[in-house]
Amino acid sequence: MDLDLDLLSKARRSVRNLPTYDAGISIDRFSSSDNPRVIHNLSVNENPFGMSPRALAALQVAVQTGAIYPDGDCFYLREKLGEKLGVAPERIIAGNGSEDILSLICKVFINVGDKVLIPKPTFSLHHIYAAMMDAEVIEVPIDSALNFNATRWLETLRSLHQLKILMLANPSNPVGCSLTHTELSLMVNACPSDTLLVIDEAYVEYAAHEPEFPRVFEILQNQERPWIVLRTFSKAYGLAGMRVGYGICSHSTITNLLNRVRTPYNVNRLAQIAAIQSLDDQQHLAKTVQFTVSEKDRMRDEILSWGIAVAPSSTNFLFIDIEAPSIKVANYLLSQNVMVKAWRGVGYESFIRVSIGHQYQNELLLRNLKNYLSEQILNFPVAL
Ligand SMILES: *Cc1c(COP(=O)(O)O)cnc(C)c1O
Repeated sequence: MDLDLDLLSKARRSVRNLPTYDAGISIDRFSSSDNPRVIHNLSVNENPFGMSPRALAALQVAVQTGAIYPDGDCFYLREKLGEKLGVAPERIIAGNGSEDILSLICKVFINVGDKVLIPKPTFSLHHIYAAMMDAEVIEVPIDSALNFNATRWLETLRSLHQLKILMLANPSNPVGCSLTHTELSLMVNACPSDTLLVIDEAYVEYAAHEPEFPRVFEILQNQERPWIVLRTFSKAYGLAGMRVGYGICSHSTITNLLNRVRTPYNVNRLAQIAAIQSLDDQQHLAKTVQFTVSEKDRMRDEILSWGIAVAPSSTNFLFIDIEAPSIKVANYLLSQNVMVKAWRGVGYESFIRVSIGHQYQNELLLRNLKNYLSEQILNFPVAL
């Protein structure tokens, strides 16, 4: 008997066909003591400035308490977030990254065959975790301008009589586009009345200054329906390696349900401390956002001027259609020590997602991308 097949058949049916999340290759793997190599990682949307110096200082002390269990309740972190957002801490849940909470949401709410509506392309864990629980996943594609297709969304929402969860990254990952306040309001109101709304705002800090960006709590607070807004310290706060994110829930009952399926110490001691300190350093955040937004706009204009399509972005990355297999360009860029994410989702294999780094890293990316394209594309305006 084929042991592998036999083992596979022991797994839950939904797991047998589940893809593994593409987390990329850690840049640590490219370097060793006898072969040091600096890779500029523009593939996972980290903050090039790193974490707040306040957080770093607190961590250096806190590391000495590593023998002590973390606070399983994340009491002080949730209290601080509650104060900042004007929400009772009972309605806030913390997670080992916001992806931890995504998984909890799917485990708690999805029964076999429940419908989950997501954009296409989107953050792949939204798809994977829903599929893990045997959901029927329905996708709404972005439009030809690489934007959310609000009209199509409204039509789809109105045509669905039953919808368990609307799971939406806004701004989008990987596209970067964002719905306007009006569009999101219309969509929320077009949902069946008992749909759970999950709005994943991993990039909210980069988008909040835009006048049209949804003020999500203003839209949700008068809704009778259940909702969860997800945020993270991994992106603008520069704590990706510490793993901490949080969710704000419409009702404390939701928090209670999520608590039943989470691991008891899901957010480690150091992560809790770093997150609390980071919230107190709004100056570091402001510097990060200001620099990143201006670099992003500059880079987008530059690439557009080459005649290459780049999605609108309210985030710290750009989604670029190079009209050629993205794996090849990603490998070329890696040979030049720049790592980007080649998108693999069906229909988007010609896109790369590029994070905004330090200015010199962005220049390295632009120079090498332009080189590659000018060699690959016949009519590419090299002289630009
Ligand atoms: C990065 C990201 C997350 C996950 O972040 P964590 O590191 O798990 O907090 C969640 N959603 C989206 C859309 C993201 O881009």
